[in-house]
Amino acid sequence: MLIAPRIRSNICINAHPMGCEAQVQAQIRYVNSRGPIAGPKRVLVVGASNGYGLAARIVSAFGSASATIGLGFEKPATANRTATAGWYNNRAFRKEAEKAGLAAWNLNGDAFSLQTKSDVVQMVKEKLNRIDFLVYSIAAPRRIDPETGQIYSSVIKPIGQSFTARTVDFLTGEIGTITADAATEEEIRQTVKVMGGEDWFMWVDKLRAEDLLAPGFLTVAFSYIGSDYTRALYRDGSIGAAKKDLEKKAEEINQILSPINGKALISVNKALITRASAVIPAVPLYIALLYRVMKDKDLHEGCIEQMVRLYSDHLFSGKPLALDKNGRIRIDDYEMREDVQRTVSDLWERIDGDDIREIADIKGLRAEFLRHHGFGMPGVDYSREIDPGDL
Ligand code: NAD
Repeated sequence: MLIAPRIRSNICINAHPMGCEAQVQAQIRYVNSRGPIAGPKRVLVVGASNGYGLAARIVSAFGSASATIGLGFEKPATANRTATAGWYNNRAFRKEAEKAGLAAWNLNGDAFSLQTKSDVVQMVKEKLNRIDFLVYSIAAPRRIDPETGQIYSSVIKPIGQSFTARTVDFLTGEIGTITADAATEEEIRQTVKVMGGEDWFMWVDKLRAEDLLAPGFLTVAFSYIGSDYTRALYRDGSIGAAKKDLEKKAEEINQILSPINGKALISVNKALITRASAVIPAVPLYIALLYRVMKDKDLHEGCIEQMVRLYSDHLFSGKPLALDKNGRIRIDDYEMREDVQRTVSDLWERIDGDDIREIADIKGLRAEFLRHHGFGMPGVDYSREIDPGDL
């Protein structure tokens, strides 16, 4: 079949296998161009098939020559539907790792389930013996509680009062207004269940109980803070409540890791358009302005640049960790720079609709979003009929 992007409400429902492969290769080239990083050698990435988790796995493998196990929750192709982008990314990653002589194993399954955790435990025992580093990079809309079977759903809503803000459909460039009602107590509780730190804790605890964590083991999970324009909806909203829970869980994980001298860290990352963030109201408009400002100032980074900086300037730099007053690594430092935020704010106030394409980087945002699904990659022949099961 011919595969062209099919997009509904900022969700792309298909992906291009060769384009995803090219996109993984481009990230690998970037990492190779940056030279070696003295990172750990046995790495597990939970949420490895897209966005930040995929980039982290690429840095571990190609920057630090690590053996990696990557877990994603992706769908394979059927006769008339492509696989999800993450499915193709995982395949492409393994193919490239094999070519480079790097050990890599993929698992596809629900990270929240006991079965998947047992499968990963088995794989670690067989392939790596122990792990030195766990990257936890899940962005999920729901979670089935492994003990009770109850389904929890996350919502992106403000807390306390409703929130109205401008937003952009970054495919058409149309500006609109969205209003989100305040989350109920139950919605907040469920969002924390899905996107908070409980599952991260369960992963570490399970691996620890099975004696699969090497002395000095390290784990990192990703958080977000962001600007005043998204604060009511994000950081002070239901999803922010989940992120605060994740950050707090790092302390509990540190307690259970102290006997092996292990450590749990939070990295606060930059806002980027990924499959997860594209569907958060108001965030695409903020990101489109942020991209424009950061590109103008030559500060722009994507997932792979962020992860290289996390590894080489922070986690494995050999220098003492530079943490904020809440003990977090801040690779959102460029985004949060006073001059960047001030310029974003000036632009936000100026936008009146028609000039959105000149003022904001809608084109860049759209291109990056499409690249996450394997579209618009240089060197890929999109006019070629292909079998979606290829790769
Ligand atoms: P993404 O959608 O690109 O990737 C999410 C990953 O989670 C995928 O590999 C997917 O397969 C996996 N996943 C989802 N549900 C799963 C399940 N049940 N079992 C196993 N795997 C599952 O998301 P992303 O934007 O890279 O986000 C990753 C983390 O980074 C999240 O915690 C997010 O909050 C955080 N973060 C994102 C941004 C941003 O702007 N994108 C900024 C800061 C922090």
